[in-house]
Amino acid sequence: MKTLPPLREVIARHGLSASRALGQNFLFDAQLLDRIAAIPGDLHGKAVLEVGPGPGGLTRALLRAGARVTAIEMDRRCLPALAELGEAYPGQLQVIEGDALKIDHGELMQGEPFSVVANLPYNVGTALFVKWLGGEAWPPQWQSLTLMFQLEVAQRIVATPGTSAYGRLAVLAQWRSDAKLAMKVHRSAFTPPPKVMSAVVHVTPGLAPKGVSARTLERVTEAAFGQRRKMLRQSLKGVPGALNALENLGIDPQRRAETLSVEDFVSLAAELG
Ligand code: SAM
Repeated sequence: MKTLPPLREVIARHGLSASRALGQNFLFDAQLLDRIAAIPGDLHGKAVLEVGPGPGGLTRALLRAGARVTAIEMDRRCLPALAELGEAYPGQLQVIEGDALKIDHGELMQGEPFSVVANLPYNVGTALFVKWLGGEAWPPQWQSLTLMFQLEVAQRIVATPGTSAYGRLAVLAQWRSDAKLAMKVHRSAFTPPPKVMSAVVHVTPGLAPKGVSARTLERVTEAAFGQRRKMLRQSLKGVPGALNALENLGIDPQRRAETLSVEDFVSLAAELG
């Protein structure tokens, strides 16, 4: 293996000034990056999908851990730096230029189980997260998701009922998966530093409750939390059969969405079929 130049030098040499439009905040601290790459467990010989490698800090950590990395990056300025990284780890890194929101990840990974690791702008990260958690087929092809989010978003993912952070993201992340806040990351760890703190969330698939359509659950949670201050009888008005389902389940329609447990939402979706 060739010795790699420091990341800051790579960035200067390739003129990779961070683009605000692409939500670029880079991580350079190798120890911190190794700790993030360790969250999914032993990656030696395993397939990893990294989204948004940028200049490749996290990619380096994943390669050091022995992973076989497929990386999707939309900023073509980063490609030469990533190509150098691929040369240092022959056969371990494949880089795809493109928008991760438009690529079929299962196909890209050729049907093989894979772990996802990513440090993404939060809007792209949330959109991908919801996509990975969706779909009727379960367990999914991914074995774990290790994702950097704004701390506030990470807290919404792991939130419990009755809290202001609890909402659609918590239900979608918890109804058939296990979601943990694995590590908080100080804003000063990034270049340039973002305005807010960040955190890494780690999600693994669990058992899917029988007879529940993911699509129905998504629809119900969207309606219920779309008007979270309203009573369920108001917020679920537009979902056919929902008010009857509440009655059948003995759930008081005067309650508000944030008081229902994840299991309550699952029962509601099951009742709706
Ligand atoms: N992983 C690097 C790190 O930790 O230092 C870079 C992180 S930076 C926050 C996010 C990266 O995601 C940028 O390189 C950006 O170009 C890339 N990106 C943004 N939107 C993307 C998308 N839709 N598909 C693929 N990459 C994207």
